[in-house]
Amino acid sequence: MNKAFLLKYGEIALKGKNRRIFEDVLVQHVRFALSKVDGSFVVTKTRGRIFVEAESAFDEEDALGALQRVFGIVGICPAVLLEDNGFEDLSSHILEYMEETVEDKHITFKVDARRARKNYPKNSMEINADLGEKILDRFPEMSVDVHHPEMVVRVEIRERINFYLREIPGPGGMPIGTNGSAQLLLSGGIDSPVAGYMVARRGVNIHATYFHAPPYTSERAKQKVVDLAKILSRYIGPVTLHVVNFTDIQMYIYEKCPHDELTIIMRRFMMLIAEHFAKIDNDMGLVTGESIGQVASQTMQSLSCTDAAATLPVYRPLIGFDKQDIIDKALEIGTYDTSILPYEDCCTIFVAKHPVTRPRLERIERSEQNLAEKIEELVYTAIETTETLVVEE
Ligand code: ATP
Ligand code: MG
Repeated sequence: MNKAFLLKYGEIALKGKNRRIFEDVLVQHVRFALSKVDGSFVVTKTRGRIFVEAESAFDEEDALGALQRVFGIVGICPAVLLEDNGFEDLSSHILEYMEETVEDKHITFKVDARRARKNYPKNSMEINADLGEKILDRFPEMSVDVHHPEMVVRVEIRERINFYLREIPGPGGMPIGTNGSAQLLLSGGIDSPVAGYMVARRGVNIHATYFHAPPYTSERAKQKVVDLAKILSRYIGPVTLHVVNFTDIQMYIYEKCPHDELTIIMRRFMMLIAEHFAKIDNDMGLVTGESIGQVASQTMQSLSCTDAAATLPVYRPLIGFDKQDIIDKALEIGTYDTSILPYEDCCTIFVAKHPVTRPRLERIERSEQNLAEKIEELVYTAIETTETLVVEE
C-alpha cells in the first residue's frame, strides 16, 4: 500500500496541443514545491492526472500546504496506490484505510468506481455495488446516499489501482510561466501583493519593482517589501525584485510641480521606470494593485493619466474589488499580516491634502514640463543605482 496524492488539474487539460507543455511545467512545479518538504517524492503524470508517491515518511500537512500553492492544481486527493491483486485484496485495503482515516462513521456515502482498464473482471457498476455492500457490512453505522453523500469512495482502475476519499481544493489557475511574465509594481501595501498573486495565478511569472525613498522610507519599509516578495515566492518561486531609489525624483517633483498633482506625476514616473525593468526582464505588461475609486489617484481619470505614461499594457486585477475583498484575499494568501506593518511607504509622505481627482492629461503633461531640466538625468541615475535582488523563502 503506497501513500500518494492524486492531483487534478482542470483548465490545462483543455489546451489541445499545448497540453503536454502545460502538464510538463506543472509536474516541474510540483517537484519544486515538494523539494521544500521533508521526504522524498516521485511525481509522474498519466492522462489527466498527476501522481505524487512518497518514497519515505513525510508530513502530510506540509506536503498538502506545498501542493496547495501550485497554480494549475484544482484538486488534491490524498490517495492510496495499489498493484492489482484482485478485488478481495482491493476491498480489504479500502476498508482498512476507512477504518484508519474516517473518524466519524455515522455518515452517508457512495462508491464511485472508474474502470479505465477494461480487462478488469468487474465493471464500474459491479464495483460500486460490491464494494458498497462490503462497506455496509463492515461499518453498519454508515448508509448509502447516491445523490448527496457526505463521502465519496472513489476507485480508479488503471494499470495500478488508486482510491481516495477526500478532495482538497487546490489554488486553480494555470502553471507559472505558461503565460509569460509581467512586472509588478510592488509596494508595502495590502493591494499590490494580492494583484501580483492574481496575475500569477493565471500562469504569468512575476518580476517586481519597488520604489524606495530613503530617508523618508526606512530600511524596515524596504524589508517589508522584501518579505512580501518572499511570501509571493511561495507560489511563484524565486522573485526578481528591483529596488529603485526614488527619493531624488520625488523631491524634484515636489519642488517643481503643483502639490495636488504629486501622486499622479509620481505614479507616472513609477510606470516609466517599471517599464524599463519590464523590458529588461522580457515582461509583456505591468501590474498594479489599483482599483477604481479607491483613492484620488485611482479615479478613472487618474488611471488613464497613469496609463499614458506606459507603452506596455497595465493590468489591474483588483480593478473591481472592494477593499474588503482585497483584505480577504490577502488573508487567504498570507500577505496581510506583513502588509499592515506600520512603516511608511514613499507615497504617504508626499501626499497632498487635496489631490486632484479628475486630472487632465494635458495639464499633467504641462506640469511635467517644469521637470525638463533635470528629470532625464534623475531617471537615468535611479535606474543605474537600482539594486536588484532575487528573493526566495
Ligand atoms: P494600499 O493597500 O495602502 O492601497 P497600495 O500599495 O495599493 O497600498 P496605493 O497608493 O494605493 O498603495 O498605490 C497604488 C499602486 O501603485 C500600488 O498597488 C502599487 O502597484 C503601485 N505603487 C504605489 N507605491 C509604490 C511603491 N512605493 N513601489 C512600487 N509600487 C508602488
Ligand atoms: Mg491601493
